[in-house]
Amino acid sequence: PVRVRFAPSPTGNLHVGGARTALFNYLFARSKGGKFVLRIEDTDLERSTRESEEAVLRDLAWLGLDWDEGPGVGGDYGPYRQSERNSMYKQYAEKLLESGHVYRCFCSNEELEKMKEIAELKKLPPVYSGKWATAADGEVEEELAKGTPYTYRFRVPKEGSLKINDLIRGEALILFDSVMKVSWKLDTLGDFVIMRSNGQPVYNFCVTVDDATMAISHVIRAEEHLPNTLRQALIYKALGFPMPSFAHVSLILAPDRSKLSKRHGATSVGQYRDMGYLPQAMVNYLALLGWGDGTENEFFTIDQLVEKFSIGRVNKSGAVFDSTKLRWMNGQHLRAIPFEELSQLIGERWKSTGLLTESEGPFVDDAVQLLKDGIDLVTDSDTALSNLLSYPVHATLTSPECRPIVEDKLSEVSAHLLAAYDSGELFGALEEGPAGWQKWVKGFGKTLKRKGKSLFMPLRVLLTGKLHGPDMGSSVILIYKAGNHGIVSPQAG
Ligand code: GLU
Repeated sequence: PVRVRFAPSPTGNLHVGGARTALFNYLFARSKGGKFVLRIEDTDLERSTRESEEAVLRDLAWLGLDWDEGPGVGGDYGPYRQSERNSMYKQYAEKLLESGHVYRCFCSNEELEKMKEIAELKKLPPVYSGKWATAADGEVEEELAKGTPYTYRFRVPKEGSLKINDLIRGEALILFDSVMKVSWKLDTLGDFVIMRSNGQPVYNFCVTVDDATMAISHVIRAEEHLPNTLRQALIYKALGFPMPSFAHVSLILAPDRSKLSKRHGATSVGQYRDMGYLPQAMVNYLALLGWGDGTENEFFTIDQLVEKFSIGRVNKSGAVFDSTKLRWMNGQHLRAIPFEELSQLIGERWKSTGLLTESEGPFVDDAVQLLKDGIDLVTDSDTALSNLLSYPVHATLTSPECRPIVEDKLSEVSAHLLAAYDSGELFGALEEGPAGWQKWVKGFGKTLKRKGKSLFMPLRVLLTGKLHGPDMGSSVILIYKAGNHGIVSPQAG
């Protein structure tokens, strides 16, 4: 059975890169009818916090990536926090010691430093010399009797090579100027520590024991873990566990093709949520970072992603994170929300921001209808509405673009408009809504013998205070209603 896991270290917020790894795991599990496991990798006790863990869980839940096993859910393979699995690591470490895959190393830090220096002088890779790998039992007994602290070191086979099965990269991949391999010659790797002298197990060891005992079938993670995979694969073999399949997902890059980081702007899922992004748009956009269904189509709901996703279509080159495209995508998803729901969402926002003093269903519906095509984010609707309803008279009437139009109709259009206003004819028409407006504007043009631009441009400037905007009739009716209902009053600029 397919069992995958997302294994965040709770040392900060959920980054878009982590979210995409989680998403690919989720899609793989759901598309294969498998299980999606969440494991918290908090072996680094100093940097891990419960707040970070909670924030990561909250962000995953917000994205809709619900996990089948893990914190808050439970499951048959728990506990799901590494800090609660120490006895298990210890047990497997002892097993490896017994089978001889691991040995005790009594070297002090000073000794290890020396070794490094010597290796450097000899221009050799800074790997462990193997001093305790071949020690006689008597020597070991002696150190144990003295109480000398020791680590557990993994005995790396000195010959041969190791290859893993990577579903995305095949044999090798070019990453910037270095080659990150999926096959390694073992003689470059020194015997590495799996348990420190204070009994604290080392990261690579924990991950292997966890993946094996949690029966993980596919390890889908960021490519920066490839060097860890080499060590983990050796531990798998030593413990006699079947090796999972691996899929190392490429980096997410900034537009300048450097590694995406904070200096490129918002990079955490929480920041996007706070800016008003929709989870379904985030999920859709993240899926496109390195994956596509092979067609031009870019709009996917999460259900469609589950249906279409295949790990074999994941690209092995880096994917560029383009926040402009994410914004555009949010607009696509915003407009895909059923109208009633969208109107409610935006109406609530206008009320909560104080933009709307009174929540008037029909008014909100009309305004949302008029403005929705011009916005990408729910938060954009604020500016859109206040912009529509504000009438910067001074700025408008004196701007170089508006001035000639205003002057042209000062003689004619504005005089007639004033008359229509004074007589109550204009507001009477607006009160009747779109049909009233249509009728009035037709008659107005007829009287003035104007139509098209020469009629509508001056009217728009006079009535909305702007040269351009959405449908004029709807705009004017909304502005009129807003004035009448105590919703944002038109302000003279
Ligand atoms: N805890 C690791 C990280 O947050 C993930 C390790 C893994 O997926 O194997 O980068």
